[in-house]
Amino acid sequence: MKEPKIGVYICHCGGNISDTVDVAKVKESIAKLGGVKIVQTYEYMCSKPGQDMIQRDIKEHGLNRVVVASCSPRMHLDTFRGAVKGAGVDFRGAQKRAALNPYLLEMANIREQCSWVHDDKELATEKATALIHGAVERVNYNEPLEPKAMPVNRDVAVVGGGIAGILASIELADKGYKVYLIERNPSIGGHMAQLSKTFPTLDCSACILTPKMVYVSQHPNVEIIDMAEPIAINGSPGNYELTVRIRPRYVDKEKCTSCGECARVCPVKKFTRHEEGLLQDKCIYLPFKQAVPNAYVIEKDLCLWFNKGVCRVCEKFCKGKAIVFDQKEETRELNVGAIISCTGYQQLDPSLSKEIFEGWNVFSQYGFGLHPDVVTNLQFERLMLQGIHRPSNGKPPKKVAFVLCVGSRMDHGIQYCCKIGCMNAIKHSLLLLKAVPDAEPWIFYTDIRAHGKGYEEFYSNARDHNVKFIRGRVAEVVPNGDNLIVRTEDTILSKQIEETFDLVVLSPALLPNTGTGELSKMLGIDLGPDGFFLERHHKLRPVDTKREGMYLAGCALGPKDIRETTIETMATASKVATFLGRGEVSVSPEIAYIIPEKCNACGECIKYCPTKAIESITSGVVINPISCTGCGICVPKCPTDAIDLKHSTDAQLMAQIQGTCEEDGDRPRIIAFLEKITAYGSADLAGQTRVSYTPNVKIIAVPSTGRVGLKHVLHAFASGADGVILIEGDDSPFRGEQVREHVNTLKKELGKFGVESLRVVSTTTTLPEFDKVVNLFQTFDERMSKMGRILPEKRQKIAEALTGGK
Ligand code: FAD
Repeated sequence: MKEPKIGVYICHCGGNISDTVDVAKVKESIAKLGGVKIVQTYEYMCSKPGQDMIQRDIKEHGLNRVVVASCSPRMHLDTFRGAVKGAGVDFRGAQKRAALNPYLLEMANIREQCSWVHDDKELATEKATALIHGAVERVNYNEPLEPKAMPVNRDVAVVGGGIAGILASIELADKGYKVYLIERNPSIGGHMAQLSKTFPTLDCSACILTPKMVYVSQHPNVEIIDMAEPIAINGSPGNYELTVRIRPRYVDKEKCTSCGECARVCPVKKFTRHEEGLLQDKCIYLPFKQAVPNAYVIEKDLCLWFNKGVCRVCEKFCKGKAIVFDQKEETRELNVGAIISCTGYQQLDPSLSKEIFEGWNVFSQYGFGLHPDVVTNLQFERLMLQGIHRPSNGKPPKKVAFVLCVGSRMDHGIQYCCKIGCMNAIKHSLLLLKAVPDAEPWIFYTDIRAHGKGYEEFYSNARDHNVKFIRGRVAEVVPNGDNLIVRTEDTILSKQIEETFDLVVLSPALLPNTGTGELSKMLGIDLGPDGFFLERHHKLRPVDTKREGMYLAGCALGPKDIRETTIETMATASKVATFLGRGEVSVSPEIAYIIPEKCNACGECIKYCPTKAIESITSGVVINPISCTGCGICVPKCPTDAIDLKHSTDAQLMAQIQGTCEEDGDRPRIIAFLEKITAYGSADLAGQTRVSYTPNVKIIAVPSTGRVGLKHVLHAFASGADGVILIEGDDSPFRGEQVREHVNTLKKELGKFGVESLRVVSTTTTLPEFDKVVNLFQTFDERMSKMGRILPEKRQKIAEALTGGK
């Protein structure tokens, strides 16, 4: 190894760090460390002058290692890797001198995991110093690595055929990519297919949507796979294998002419989903007139043939011989380079509030499900299309109450805004006035949110048309003969309101679509605290996920209107085209490797590899570099230390542990090994939310907690730690029973060195569960304070045992 010449760059982050961390003091301490050639501080290290400073120093001081102490690597690792890599390149791309390999950079997270979670300047400064010290020790052992290039598959899977999925498919298909559009319903179209007219322009929804449905269905580069859902995934970015389950329609789409004869003769009636349960259809039905594919489908659960073995009358009357009762469920494997989730939303069912609000039935007072003239706004869309009428008596309603924020923006319940409720109620009021000129629309609102283009004008137009706006949450809706009484307080005039209406229209909260949780687990991408898919970065990567090659669009990310959905979808399609357009993806070099002279081919590692990347061949054991995901679980399992993990080698990890633990003070020291994607991200989220916790906990990112073996934990205790926390991401292949088993073995082994098992604790977490992570930090710190620090003699003994007395 070349003699290290390390440059350390400490960012103020415009006060985000320097308001809490004494940057000058940290600089002074770090400058004394061995191998450190230069330490610089700067207001914004990620800015051009900051990056230029690093590049200049690499050239002028001949630096061969760099540590940047700033925000989370989740935010700017790529930025700083780019900076060190570009150090030898001039503006024309010509090589001035050898650039620094990006793997010779380390980052210390002194913002999300330090300045944003601690208030005490002295303690935050000590902690920042320890974290940077750890990074400096580690970078000594970093080695240059090169990612491998792999060709990508240019096909794309789009999951969800609402307006977002349709537009994403068209955009990519027009650019020449082959798209599989996977929709679980019998027709594409999503919620937009149910809408009458759309705010703020009041143009008809079908006129905008249906031509796109036809276009996408006829596009030579698009294959629509309807009645289908993804159920499994394998592979890696650029080369995914997606397994899709296709439910039987019991009608041959190619033969069905949608003449409707089958439905005419079918004896079984059912309420339709498209009409939001307001109209009945037959058990063999066309989802809606403009459905794509335009073919009938049989509802198996209600069909007499499937349930009682009688009937088949549809089959007898079908001239095209399109009925296929023995159609079976199928699965299909799709090889794709990228996947877009456009799975949209569902509405809160106001009558199901019990389940959602843990036993507190907040909506029973709105009478939904008890009185036919209390409907949802989606039902109102259908009523408008059917010819506006009261469900109870078929007569046009005159006085209509629109009740906003049903379930949204509540402390106990769904805190976020549905984003479409206000404009939609205004739209419905104007449409009602057009249909029934002497109608009286009343809108009961919390705040009117008119944030989009043309929305304020739309709102003002409604006021000009004498739509009544009452500020106040509706307390109750009480049936009164044929009518409904709405009670509330007008919070502007501070007076009680009790008015009688013909129809009450509720605007329920919008929720993540059913199955969103399962899909996120299967694809290995995160959900946010609201249950919608989580973007990679709120501002800079709003349609990316944490996994390369997986993207998001539309209401899958959260409630939004059609315009915002469209804009987002265009951005997503562009990201996918850029990703696949390069023709190749770089595969991370951070993978496990065998040290042949130590390997006795016992095959122990093979048992633990979650991706089956290790196999035994006649000459020994080999690791497939493409299948290896670099989790490192195999490394501590090797009885002869014959496996190591690139960029998370034993040498790097041991050095970082040592540096992070070395610190003055009598407080207990806790090292928390966090799986680097989800668990580490969860700790970052605690920082972003400014939830504070004890500065005694210092986090070290690891590929998985399975990478942390007995020697690492012992080394932490020998180096000054009093407790060790291991936190695994809930979506990691190494979780549940495996983590428990691993930690129990660690605890047992620690006993042999006189370390109490209570000094190690572990858990798993999802990304939004940062409260759980923070609680564990706090309670474990209290436990360590009670147990007291490990005595120096014991540390000495552990250190001697680790080095074999050398
Ligand atoms: P969706 O329309 O929900 O489509 C998602 C699709 O994904 C569905 O077809 C679903 O079946 C499918 N899917 C889900 N999970 C899976 C899976 N696992 N596998 C396969 N397929 C799956 N916006 C406006 O701009 N103007 C308006 O006037 C307006 N009016 C509205 C009125 C009401 C009452 C409501 C509730 C919303 C209104 N909106 C309006 C908002 C509009 O509905 C949304 O912006 C738009 O529908 C979002 O489209 P999407 O494709 O993201 O989601």
